[in-house]
Amino acid sequence: FFISFLLFQSVDAQEVYKNAKAPVQKRVEDLLKRMTLKEKIMQLNQYTEGDKDNPNNIEKSVNELSPEVGSLIFSSSDPVFRNKIQKKAVEESRLGIPILFAFDVIHGYKTIYPIPLGQAASWNLDLAKKASAIAAKESRLGGIEWTFSPMIDVAYDPRWGRVSEGYGEDPYTNAQFSVATILGYQGTQPYDSLHVAACLKHYIGYSHSEGGRDYVYTDISPQSIWETYIPPYIATINAGAATLMSSFNDISGIPSTANTHWLKDVLRTQLGFNGLIVSDWYGIDQLKSQGVAKDDKEAGLKAFLATTDVDMVDNIYGRHLEELVKEKKITIAQIDDAVRRILKLKFELGLFEKPYVHVLPDDKRFLLPEDIKTVEKYAEETMVLLKNKDQVLPLESVKNIALIGPFAKDNDHVMGSWRGFGKTKDVVPFYEGMIKEFGSNVNFEYVRGCDFEGDDKSEFDAAYQAALKSDIVVLYLGEKAGWSGENASRSSLALPQIQEDLIKHIATTGKKIILVFSSGRPIELALIEPLVDGIIAIWQPGTAGSAPLAGILSGRINPSGKLPITFPYSTGQIPIYYNHRQSARVYQGHYQDVQQGPLYPFAYSLSYTTFEYSDIKLSKDNINKSDKLVASITVKNTGKKDGLETVHWFIRDWHSSISRPVKELKHFEKKLIKAGEMVTYTFEIDPTRDLSFPDATGKRLLEAGDFQLKVADKEAKFVLN
Ligand code: BGC
Repeated sequence: FFISFLLFQSVDAQEVYKNAKAPVQKRVEDLLKRMTLKEKIMQLNQYTEGDKDNPNNIEKSVNELSPEVGSLIFSSSDPVFRNKIQKKAVEESRLGIPILFAFDVIHGYKTIYPIPLGQAASWNLDLAKKASAIAAKESRLGGIEWTFSPMIDVAYDPRWGRVSEGYGEDPYTNAQFSVATILGYQGTQPYDSLHVAACLKHYIGYSHSEGGRDYVYTDISPQSIWETYIPPYIATINAGAATLMSSFNDISGIPSTANTHWLKDVLRTQLGFNGLIVSDWYGIDQLKSQGVAKDDKEAGLKAFLATTDVDMVDNIYGRHLEELVKEKKITIAQIDDAVRRILKLKFELGLFEKPYVHVLPDDKRFLLPEDIKTVEKYAEETMVLLKNKDQVLPLESVKNIALIGPFAKDNDHVMGSWRGFGKTKDVVPFYEGMIKEFGSNVNFEYVRGCDFEGDDKSEFDAAYQAALKSDIVVLYLGEKAGWSGENASRSSLALPQIQEDLIKHIATTGKKIILVFSSGRPIELALIEPLVDGIIAIWQPGTAGSAPLAGILSGRINPSGKLPITFPYSTGQIPIYYNHRQSARVYQGHYQDVQQGPLYPFAYSLSYTTFEYSDIKLSKDNINKSDKLVASITVKNTGKKDGLETVHWFIRDWHSSISRPVKELKHFEKKLIKAGEMVTYTFEIDPTRDLSFPDATGKRLLEAGDFQLKVADKEAKFVLN
């Protein structure tokens, strides 16, 4: 006994968890067995820096901060301050467990790139990966190891403000962009000190809120969850996403935060997600207002039993988990499982070896010239040319341009919501970008014309006069940053009345007008569209937006963005999306008072050149379930400018046990086609991946039948036996 006691002692004394060479799993187990229940619970309770009302807000006093704190949602960009907090944890906590620092790095930390909805318009996954790698690097250098991104809520209702934070209305697009984004954030495993852990959010169905109003009730059929909302999660879990956040909404009466079916049975068991689950901001506390918990303790119990590992800022786990264990409502084994997940992440991120941030001067860590170039390229590829009457664009031979609108000198709203530590001083306003682009050959006259909103028309006349003197008017309009993002729903997608009035007023000059608009969602343009000659959607392009836009206006850049979301003709048509099911009467299902269908459909765009699609081919037209089918199409650039063209491959399954949408995107690819050249695009169809669909329990069905492949206006048919 004495010898085994000694042996045990010496093994214990080895502190395997401190050995960087030991496998992570061994380190986790070693550390876990040394921890008290209180220490374990501290790992599951996320504290905050920045929310002044939170009793655990560390800003109140770092000295009073418990060194046992597990993680912090941290809103300071000061690595010196961050290291000071970390030092306290590492040196003063009993076991020296470092804190995990988290922050919402959504589309950039300091170098801000376009909002996710805009990113999706680029159809360029390589840039998605590069941009998120830049965000990861800047985050780590700023002291953040965990970002609450990407948001992969497929969104059918653009009134919902958070439509700007996701990749549009299509599940496949959301899946592809989020996988690329995760690879950029997390890098290849194991993590190096320039990558961060990603967080998929918000699981599940958050975007389906009634009327597009944020935080409200959702009623979704399991079929739609499996078909529309879960696919991006499956793809990103398979790609190795480290963490996931549950959503605020309730699903038919059971809030996601406490939803054992969707979290435990589906996510954990059926989908095999073993990463860390964090609740959303006060999400556990809100179980009370959502009517499923009578007090904090019950809320904590419900969230915990649904396998939520970390309580974001409510401090409900901190206050009640111990008691719940004592009452045997929660077992130590369950606590250990949750603690394992956060410890594992900390070991994997290298926090035990390198808890501190190496403090570099700002010009060595942020806004590096090569990074600005990348985000400029990204912004450029997100912009979508929607109208170009009589080839009014590009502005190759004009001499006098009137720049009108509240966005012409803006360097703030174009950064969108969730802009990390992006600063307006680092954003070149469009006006300056235009002057730089066009040089002294062109005269610019700027008049603001009106504010973003309100009813002051006192500048209308000056705008009218400037327009009269010009060869062409460029109107910069759109949405303020705060009109999209969290808790920023709108009942209408139209531009504010004052902006529409300004367009109408300028249109009376008879001058040609280019409308450029920045927004976090599709805009209702039906009444405006006939009054202008050119339209460009630029979304919220971020730090580097003005140079690419000026380049598109001048013709230096050929626009290549395509819509990742439908632009309705009028707000009343919502929900309107491309991948809907066929209505019972094919010719019906429309409104009497607006045109049928959208103003601009999903994947719509124009270019300064023309692309001709021909020769759609299939390697076979009759296949078995285990066969692969190669499809190809030729695209010719028949215009005079080189251009990037994204080809979208859609499939329709005509008849099956559960009806399928009229078309579903299954693949896309963007390539450069030089003027006059012809390029072949291919898509290998894998029946198991591309022709199967889920039932209401998530089981995938692959049924024989007739299929149609659609690419632009070309089609091909095949049969699956
Ligand atoms: C949002 C999340 C965000 C969290 C932390 C919540 O209100 O819904 O998307 O990650 O706050 O800032």
